[in-house]
Amino acid sequence: MTLKEMDQNYVLQTYARNYVNFVKGENSILYDEDGKDYVDFGSGIAVCSVGHGNPRLAKAICDQVSNITHISNLYLIEPQARLAKRLAELSGIDAVTFFANSGAEANEGAIKMARKYGEVEGEVKRYKIITLEHSFHGRTITALKATGQESMHNYFGPFPDGFVYAKNIADIYNHIDDHTVAVMIELVQGEGGVQPMQKQEVQALASELKKRDILLIVDEVQTGIYRTGELLASNLYEITPDIITLAKGLGGGVPIGAIMTTHKEILKTGEHGSTFGGNYLSTRAALEVLSILEEHKNSGELDHIMIMFEERLKEIADKYSNLFEKEVGVGFMRGLRVKEGRDAGEIINAAFDNRVIVLKAGRNTVRFLPVLTMTKEEMLLGFERFESALSSL
Ligand SMILES: *Cc1c(COP(=O)(O)O)cnc(C)c1O
Repeated sequence: MTLKEMDQNYVLQTYARNYVNFVKGENSILYDEDGKDYVDFGSGIAVCSVGHGNPRLAKAICDQVSNITHISNLYLIEPQARLAKRLAELSGIDAVTFFANSGAEANEGAIKMARKYGEVEGEVKRYKIITLEHSFHGRTITALKATGQESMHNYFGPFPDGFVYAKNIADIYNHIDDHTVAVMIELVQGEGGVQPMQKQEVQALASELKKRDILLIVDEVQTGIYRTGELLASNLYEITPDIITLAKGLGGGVPIGAIMTTHKEILKTGEHGSTFGGNYLSTRAALEVLSILEEHKNSGELDHIMIMFEERLKEIADKYSNLFEKEVGVGFMRGLRVKEGRDAGEIINAAFDNRVIVLKAGRNTVRFLPVLTMTKEEMLLGFERFESALSSL
């Protein structure tokens, strides 16, 4: 039986998989079983923030798991405490953190926090949460209901009550009523098509919500951990949300989710928990990821490579105006919006045939989520291959 047959016969087929077999990784480069190299402009969907096979991360994880991997949250966990402190320090947000295992789970916890806030603050019970159309908040029943894409809700109802979808930031105000407790948004929509929100609009929303005692939850599962150039997109937008959720890039590939909140006593002992959340393995990994990326940021290298990447992408959007409408995004969360009548999937497949990995977002966006530690050589090689792909179309 081939590996492909094994996968198709024994793994639940929920993914449209590409059956390449990667066996080795070095920063932005992946090698398949035949030794062919691929430039990875997707980093496992924004997860491999410090690259594949990062020696510092590998050493930190090995040191940790050859000692203690897990002891449960019944006891003090040193790297968990240190990680929570680092997140507060590096973000400049005076927050406490709860650790979970994924983005969806972090969002579930954020929604629980909002529901609790709506129960104990104010005269009437407030429970409604406004989210945006084209948003993506995860696959659990509640996070799915929070996701403003009706097509994803097929088959799985009935859902929890209290989710309302606004068309855009300006439309959020039209949906606020006496039962509204929170607004939950991505500052740059990822899965929805690499769609950055406008900074002034977001800042105005944040201050209006504060006045009305409505919580602002920012889903930074994709935008967080230097993806936009700052630790948090909230730092880039210069806002202080009530609740921020993190996951993807935080563990550099080790599953971890996090909920940061400035409401330090919103949940009390016994009101939330997780068996695995914040264990030695994931928090030790995340601490190392943060220290690698903090150095990378402080050296100026991160900003430098992000600027070069944006310039190259703009050139490509201009040069291949037969295929692309424009370049979109911020930092290392970028996209090329494909022209009406052209197919993003076709471009992504051609890129793969030329051994460069890019992703799809929304209906018509070719998405780029490079490794944050990508070198200039890796970037140039990736774009060279991407252009060969484009000229073949
Ligand atoms: C990926 C993503 C999620 C879901 O994260 P999982 O770890 O897959 O549960 C939630 N929100 C946003 C913005 C995401 O990009």
